[in-house]
This record gives sequence, C-alpha cells and structure tokens, in this order.
Amino acid sequence: MALRFYNSLSQHLEPFSPQDGRTVRMYCCGPTVYHYAHIGNLRTFTFQDILRRWLRSSGFALDNVMNITDVDDKIIRAAMGQGKTLQEYTAEYEAAFLEDMATLRLERPEHVVRATEHIGEMVELIQQLGAKGFTYESDGSTYYRIARFPEYGKLSHNDFGGMIAGARVDVDEYDKDDARDFVLWKQKKEGEPSWDTPIGDGRPGWHIECSAMAMKYLGSTLDIHAGGIDLQFPHHENEIAQSEAVTGKPFARFWLHAEHLIVEGQKMSKSLGNFYTLRDLLALGCAPETVRYLLASVPYRNKLNFTMEGLKAAATAIERLRNFELRLRSERFAEDKNAAATERAAAATARFREAMDDDLNTAGALGVIFEFLRDTNSAMDAGQFGIENAHEGLVLLSLFDRVFDVLRPTATAGGLSDDAVAALVAERVAAKKARNFARADEIRASLDAQGIVLEDTKDGTRWKRK
Ligand code: AMP
Ligand code: ZN
Repeated sequence: MALRFYNSLSQHLEPFSPQDGRTVRMYCCGPTVYHYAHIGNLRTFTFQDILRRWLRSSGFALDNVMNITDVDDKIIRAAMGQGKTLQEYTAEYEAAFLEDMATLRLERPEHVVRATEHIGEMVELIQQLGAKGFTYESDGSTYYRIARFPEYGKLSHNDFGGMIAGARVDVDEYDKDDARDFVLWKQKKEGEPSWDTPIGDGRPGWHIECSAMAMKYLGSTLDIHAGGIDLQFPHHENEIAQSEAVTGKPFARFWLHAEHLIVEGQKMSKSLGNFYTLRDLLALGCAPETVRYLLASVPYRNKLNFTMEGLKAAATAIERLRNFELRLRSERFAEDKNAAATERAAAATARFREAMDDDLNTAGALGVIFEFLRDTNSAMDAGQFGIENAHEGLVLLSLFDRVFDVLRPTATAGGLSDDAVAALVAERVAAKKARNFARADEIRASLDAQGIVLEDTKDGTRWKRK
C-alpha cells in the first residue's frame, strides 16, 4: 500500500503524492509568539516534523512554509500591558520557540516567515477580495462576507446556511456556534500598533496572514496544509474562503489536523494554565529526546494524554533502543549470514514502512521496531546471527532514526551542542534588544555555568568553550 493520509476535507484516507510528482508544497500554521510554547503546541510541531521526515523518506523533496504569528489580539494586549512594541515583545518568544525547535530536533521548514513582514501581501489580497465583492466595510474595518462563498463550512463539515445574516466578529478566535462574517482588516484603535495602508490605518485579522503567506511562497494550490485540530474552524475554514474566492482554485489538496495533547482529560492550554513548557521538563532532568519520543509515539490523530509515567516509559524505550544499537555495533558475530535473520529484517523494514505509510501510524511503526528488537536479541543470544545481519539491523535502525531521531544522546552539562548554544546566544541578543536584561543575564549565567563564555564585540556576540 502506498503512502496515504486522512484528509480532513474529504474525511477519508487518500493516497498522497505531490501535484508535480516531486516536491511537496506544504504550509504549517506556526506559533503565536506571545508566550513560551507549551508541550501541547510542541506536539503539533513534532507531528509536522515527523510528516516532513516521512515525506522525505518516501522520496519527495520539500518546500515547506511555517508562519510566525507576531501580531494578533493576544500579543497586542500583552505587549501593551508591558509598554513594549510588538517587536520588542515577540522577539524573545520567537527566539525561544526556534531554540525549542532545535532542542527537540524539529527540522526548520524551508521558509519561516513573520506575519508583520507580509502586511503588503495581506492588503493586496484584501483588495482583490474587495474587487470581487467578497468584502464590506463597517466602522472603518473590513469584513469577509461569508454568504458570498457558498462552500463555507466544507472543511469543518458544518452547514452555516441558516446563520449568516451579516452579523460580524472582530476577534480572531471564536466557536462554530458563533460563525459570522470575520474581520480581514481592523481599524486602528488608539494606542494600538497599526499600519497605514490603502485600505486604511489598521492591522490585519489573524486569518488573512496565512492565506497571503501560503500563496506568496507556494502558489494557489498547496499539496498539504497542516495544523492543530483547533485551527480547523474558524481559522482554516476562513483561509479557504479567502484564498479560493480570489483564485477560484482549491487552496489545499490535503488538510491534516493533529489532535490535542491533554492533561487529565483537559486540553493543555495557556489560558487554562495547566501547561508545561519544554524548559519545565528539561529542568526536571528530562532529556529532550525523551520528550520528542513521547510526543511522536502516539499517532497524530489520537489524543495524547500527557503523564510523568509516559515520560519515564519513553526514557526506558530509548534506553532499550540504544542498548540494542550498541549490541549490534559492538558484539562479535559469526562471519556469515543467517537466512532467518535476514528475512526478519526485511519483513520488519516492510512493516515499518507500511505503518508509517498508513497515515503516519507511529505507534504501529514503534511496535514493529520493538518486536524486531526482541526477536533479534533472542537470535543473537542463540548464536543464530551473523555480521551481515548486524548490518541489516543497523540499516533498519537508521531508517527508524531518520524519522524518530532519538538514538543520539543530547550532550549535557558543559557539552551543550553548538546549535543549542547558538540558539541561546540568539535569544540573549533578542532579550537585550527587547530591554529584558534580566533574561539576558540569566542566559549568560546559565551558559557560564555550562562552560560557555560569551564575548560581546562590535561585530556581535562570540562564544567559546572554557
Ligand atoms: P498557537 O501558538 O496558540 O497559535 O498554537 C500553535 C499550534 O499548537 C497550533 O497548531 C495549535 O493548534 C496547536 N495546539 C494548541 N494547543 C494544543 C494542544 N493542547 N495539543 C496539541 N496542539 C495544540
Ligand atoms: Zn494559519
């Protein structure tokens, strides 16, 4: 069976290949940088990373865009509350997010783009919508008239027919029960950041940013659009309405939505206050790859119930895999090849691929690897195993690790990886720019404790190991 994904649009599993047969044009909704990401957010980003890596393992190239939402209702409220500009407020959280990504070994998409650097594209799109009769103005703000787009509701599978009588919402987030004409451009409010543009002095709504940036970098029709399940409505529904009204073409062929990470039955969210950041877990002594393993191990369309026991089990699983790899590498085996062991490796490889091809069934893929580990350990114990078999086993482990990426231990205590140091240095520069000297000093002290010295020069900050 070939690669297939569950498409939220059709509500079916569908065979996947990119439009041009080669490069997957993919858009992933990125973070809103008003806080540190919590591990619920990071579950969605880990899913996107596994998706990227499996697409590549399937022989495709990638052209992947991820946005950084650096203007929205929540950010404006928070920045104003602290008397900061948007840029001062978001720079620190953006740097922290990129650092968390690096720590969790999440690949950086080909384009990571900020909303505030694409205001021109958003204004242009709103003007095009206006020219086609999809917008109207009220009190200086511009709204999308959903009654003009009969397919509204096709992604969230709701019939909104009865409730669209020109009522409007100005907020970025709202429920299905509250489907209304949504805001594209908000009139400036006193004291709030704004952009003076041909459609007025104001700021964009949240939804228009993704339509504008997706189509700028990837064209009218994406192969895959991915995000967390809570974005399906209204955010993605609105993206479709905005984009398809202008182009007349399908906006995305596949819509993939990741289920939530929950804690004791509730969604982990910043507003509920029941969240852990990656930093919280690292401070408890957890290795980053343990978190990565846990987040990746539950198939993305299932809810992931986060527990400390789950983290412990993830650490144990990684330990077993590393011991297995070490045994394959270092034990002395007979100079020949055992036919049954060769057969076992080939079958496990095929079954691993089948599981991943089946809508990224990571739990199934891990099951295959652990069954292979058990059977292979028994074969090694029984002497029914040769050097070539060890090589075959290592090839399977490397296929596994190109996707799961947990076998290499993260260097700790004085051995921070170069990437991690560079990310912290970048975060410190951003913190200083945002005049958050307490955080900047904290980073310098923490690096110092780990044997890294910083030197501020006129060409920027240099670092070296003591
Ligand atoms: P935000 O930074 O709030 O814009 O969210 C970033 C991403 O995290 C989005 O794709 C959300 O759908 C996703 N997300 C938010 N909460 C959770 C959660 N508890 N579990 C998984 N994903 C989440
Ligand atoms: Zn988006």
